[in-house]
Amino acid sequence: MKLVVQVRLWPTFEQAAALEVTLRACNDAANFASATAFTTGDRREYALRKHTYREVKARGLGAQAAQHVIKKVADAYTTLKANIRAGNLGPEGSARRARAESKPIVFRADAAQPFDDRCLSWDHTAHTVSIWTTVGRVKNVAFVGSPDQLKMLALYRKGESDLVCRDGMWFLYATCEIPDVPVAEPDGFVGVDLGIANIAATSDGARHCGKGLNAVRHRNRELRRRLQAKATRSAKRLLKKRRRKEARFAADTNHRIAKRIVAEAERTGRGIALEDLGGIRDRVRLRKPQRVTLHSWSFHQLRSFIAYKAARRGVAVIHVDPAYTSQTCSACGHVDKANRPGQATFSCTSCGFAEHADVNAARNIASRGVAGWAVSHAADDAA
Ligand SMILES: [Zn+2]
Repeated sequence: MKLVVQVRLWPTFEQAAALEVTLRACNDAANFASATAFTTGDRREYALRKHTYREVKARGLGAQAAQHVIKKVADAYTTLKANIRAGNLGPEGSARRARAESKPIVFRADAAQPFDDRCLSWDHTAHTVSIWTTVGRVKNVAFVGSPDQLKMLALYRKGESDLVCRDGMWFLYATCEIPDVPVAEPDGFVGVDLGIANIAATSDGARHCGKGLNAVRHRNRELRRRLQAKATRSAKRLLKKRRRKEARFAADTNHRIAKRIVAEAERTGRGIALEDLGGIRDRVRLRKPQRVTLHSWSFHQLRSFIAYKAARRGVAVIHVDPAYTSQTCSACGHVDKANRPGQATFSCTSCGFAEHADVNAARNIASRGVAGWAVSHAADDAA
């Protein structure tokens, strides 16, 4: 399993200056290569290298950095093409798509730049890295991360790392290749219902409301409303900064929730049952507009955090059809819209079972997990 670990760098003033000029030089060169790719139509790495390698290298980039810059540009065009094909920029003839196709891809001065092992080496004892820069190799740049991240880096880091500068902070995104852990045969399932008021509710009755996350989102929305009216450069910059901060906060919350759910499943020898994505999208659409504060990327993120944390522990994960999980009684199976008199309450009109609505849904997801697992593993048992 591949995983990206993000660590913060703490460069000295001089080190930060060297990183900054390097990132700028790499992205200037990337913009040159991008313009060439655009005018020549040669957007694949090999062809693009023939046109640009000499010039990119002459801009003070070493052989390795030059190759990475060219690959980065080629990859960006591949991604753009895939996005256009997937309709992410609108249908053919849409203004957004036309705009994207009418000019070369532009890299910001601080856009991420990949470094391989020859350009970047890690010291896991001293917690420092040594990085190639356009003004010479910069040694002993300190980095910090959680104990878990540091351990993962020391054991499994492999391949390239991306140097990133965000809001004046420096980060390295390092790829780790983690060996697969065999999945244990689950003895039952923890059902997880993803929602908005409660980010995640489990069939055990735990409700993770993501302390403060919705409050932060609400505050930022108010601020956005006020700043958007201004539309000045500084207002835009502040908005962007706030958005990133909110995203970091959401990611942190999702990590903590995923960790607790996976730990509980592992401790009790169970698997984890999640809803299929389709259902989540439908539900986000169906809810009141002002509730769509929890963007679907946050759902995807929580799901992916649960998936990889579970995979690392050998905990089974199954995806189930979420249809009617919110209207179905988890005690007697009675399906009725009237079972759900309010946003938070579930009360069965047939057997009288009452529970928090999200917990009831999670219980349905758990039993669908059990049924789904039995079906998909029936062949294993027969063998
Ligand atoms: Zn019932």
